[in-house]
Amino acid sequence: MSLHFVHDVPGSRVVFGAGARSRAAAELDRLGARRALLVSGGHEAGFADELAGALGERVVGRFGEVVMHVPTDVAVRAVAAATERAADVLLALGGGSSTGVAKAVARQTGLPIVAVPTTYAGSEMTSIWGLTEGTRKLTGRDERVRPRVVIYDPELTLSLPPRVSAASGMNALAHLVEGLYSPEVSPITVLTAQEGVRALAAGLPRVVERPVDLDARADALYGAWLAGWVLGTTAMGVHHKICHTLGGTYDLPHAETHSAVLPHATAFNEAAAPGAMAAILRALAAAGRVAPSAAAGLWDLAVEIGAPTSLADIGYDPAAVDETAEIVVAGAPTNPRPVTAEGIRELLREALSGKRP
Ligand code: NAD
Repeated sequence: MSLHFVHDVPGSRVVFGAGARSRAAAELDRLGARRALLVSGGHEAGFADELAGALGERVVGRFGEVVMHVPTDVAVRAVAAATERAADVLLALGGGSSTGVAKAVARQTGLPIVAVPTTYAGSEMTSIWGLTEGTRKLTGRDERVRPRVVIYDPELTLSLPPRVSAASGMNALAHLVEGLYSPEVSPITVLTAQEGVRALAAGLPRVVERPVDLDARADALYGAWLAGWVLGTTAMGVHHKICHTLGGTYDLPHAETHSAVLPHATAFNEAAAPGAMAAILRALAAAGRVAPSAAAGLWDLAVEIGAPTSLADIGYDPAAVDETAEIVVAGAPTNPRPVTAEGIRELLREALSGKRP
């Protein structure tokens, strides 16, 4: 076998386990940080209160204006909050939206991030930042935004509602699927991505059936960690480009959009990426799931866990298909199958229908 790859992966320190949030003070000490700006909003606020109480004077300020896709004006106010409080570390507790706001600050200030994720979005493991300027979502990579420490505590996910858990889990699966057919894939990425698909496919149905099952939550969060790592080490393809466009330009909800598009983006790439498809099928089978194709297997999983399968159901207007396709093609994503306007229009129509691919 002729094997060629480059494996060059900067990392984050990862602390994983039920109750791991109690390690936050020790992790701040390890970084030599004394003045944390706690970035957290939305339904995670209760956990943020608890963490702020435990950390006492180390938390010098809180920034709670957490908005999905980080509008630029929110980023400006978050940077101002960090500067006014003379913060020396950003403590981001919450889903990808909280992490995203902290990353916007880190990109401007160079402050380190300690991330405490409470969803399966995976942003905490990447150097990818995202900002929304008007109706366009901009993304890029910058090592300054990669969290220095990630504290994964499955107890913090027990309150994540089943519907949000399901969609967020599909978001994580999307990172794994696109990682598997990325040109930057290496043997370690393949092993990691397969294990991630297996862990999520095994964990998510149990999470949805019994949201307070800590073992199921740990499995799903473990899969999300692997998914974030894979996203951070590979290039994003057509699937992520479509989802960023739908979120940035049409304000569609992030995780739900990933869920509805993923089976169809997978089908779109099926013939061009047979190795990735075989790896997904192997991983699904290892979780006890049999399907005629990777795309069908992902769609079946989405249906079983109650995650969205139709873009129409989450507010996408069919009249926007042409414009969306133009934006996606102009973005020239790295993708195994060539990305053409007609191909994207067809993919979007399939994702609108919600039919099994
Ligand atoms: P989110 O952070 O907005 O969370 C979704 C919902 O879940 C919110 O209402 C939130 O308040 C709630 N929630 C979160 N944790 C909870 C908990 N434990 N209990 C109850 N409710 C809880 O959404 P998300 O899907 O986690 O992240 C989406 C954002 O992350 C998008 O802006 C996306 O672009 C970004 N993202 C970035 C990367 C990256 O590498 N840069 C990767 C993935 C996602």
